[in-house]
Amino acid sequence: MAELPDKAERFIDWYLEAVEVAGLTDKRYPVKGMNVWTPYGFQARRLLDGVLIRGIEATGSQAVEFPTLIPRTEFQKEKQHVKGFDEQVYWVTRGGATELDVPLVLRPTSETAMYPIFAIWIRSHRDLPLNVYQIVNVFRYETKTTRPFLRIREIHFFEEHTCQLTDDAAAARCRSNLDTFHDIAEALALPYVASRRPEWDKFPGAFYSIALDLPVGGARTLQVGTIHHYRENFSRPYEIRYEDLSGALQYVHQTTFGLSERLLGATVAVHGDRRGVVFPSSIAPYQVVIVPIVSQNSGPIALDAARALATRLRARDLRVHVDDSPDRPGAKYYLWESRGVPLRIEIGPREAAAGTVTAVNRLGEKKSLGPGPLEEPIIQALADFDTALSARARATFQQSFSVAHRLEELANSTTVRLVAWCGAEACGHQIEQAIEGAVLGVPEGPLPIDPGPPPGCIACGKTVDSKWALAGRPL
Ligand SMILES: [Zn+2]
Repeated sequence: MAELPDKAERFIDWYLEAVEVAGLTDKRYPVKGMNVWTPYGFQARRLLDGVLIRGIEATGSQAVEFPTLIPRTEFQKEKQHVKGFDEQVYWVTRGGATELDVPLVLRPTSETAMYPIFAIWIRSHRDLPLNVYQIVNVFRYETKTTRPFLRIREIHFFEEHTCQLTDDAAAARCRSNLDTFHDIAEALALPYVASRRPEWDKFPGAFYSIALDLPVGGARTLQVGTIHHYRENFSRPYEIRYEDLSGALQYVHQTTFGLSERLLGATVAVHGDRRGVVFPSSIAPYQVVIVPIVSQNSGPIALDAARALATRLRARDLRVHVDDSPDRPGAKYYLWESRGVPLRIEIGPREAAAGTVTAVNRLGEKKSLGPGPLEEPIIQALADFDTALSARARATFQQSFSVAHRLEELANSTTVRLVAWCGAEACGHQIEQAIEGAVLGVPEGPLPIDPGPPPGCIACGKTVDSKWALAGRPL
């Protein structure tokens, strides 16, 4: 069986093939950047949505759904925001043959759909905090080459929008979102770093933006999420106000938290290998595939054992598939490996008679289970697989960062770099030019590696305000 291209050397080719052989999307739809979700890919997406929903609802956030179309008049109220999205929005200008009086925007994100209504919902301090989220598709006219899950025009988007009493409460909500993301990343076995984006790279209209980035080989990084503190930047133009205890009107302080199907792309990019995708069991469409080894003279004993085992595992809430197709076992192994199934169970006629099975996880670890009840050993094998997958990702993560002391070192970066930076925009742009990428920002919380205290700025040499910042090449 053919292996995929080398992941380190030809990352994008590798990524595209890994997504293709796993059968997660169909890219033949006649609009570029709008892919069709196959049943298998959709199931992974739905499981991922479940991880996000459980994470955010544990903090008391409630689901809502706002319309897809936004009147131009509402869309244009916050000037920075409009400017930031101007080149990216799709317009609806006609209804049937009639030109619309007010053209409509297909939402690129939902601030401008939600906030006129928040202004109606919120009256007094008792209406706060308002913490709501939605998972909907948003549309952005992407002009660069599109890639499944990574750069697309119809984006499956998670967005939380909150209104808080004070600036401090909004900052606390951002920290709570960081905790929620920590749990989500843990469930996907994805190590990441959270950084406060430089001023010139923050979300249009935000006071500050914290981005969640993953190293994905070489100096490449993938932004999978963002948390924004808006202060009153949107509540003023949209007049979202509450009456405080003294009866005075105050503007709310807002935050947002955005994630997307890029998390699925990150799962492919981080865990995948030469054989294809590797799913953590949390979002694997099938956690276990059972392959009965049927020979002509052994009768149905292996197939019967496979089906009986599948029934018992499903009763334990596992997602199980029995591959009883006429293909050769080797072809089945290859198929389910490329599709990222965490655990394969092989049952031959002799094993079926003895009540044993062979378990092979997606990292290639093989062992015999049974005789005796197989449910617990299989559940344990899945847990062991997740632990091993997480450890492997963590080890790769640690090797994905290195320190650069001089601008000249940045050109040939084979990792994401830590550089001392004074925070000045001019120095930031010098760093970006040198690495041919971006300053991701100053990490929130601990650094991914410990390089000691920062020396003077890598660009200007100043030691005042010098901090470790990350620089890389965002995909
Ligand atoms: Zn500097």
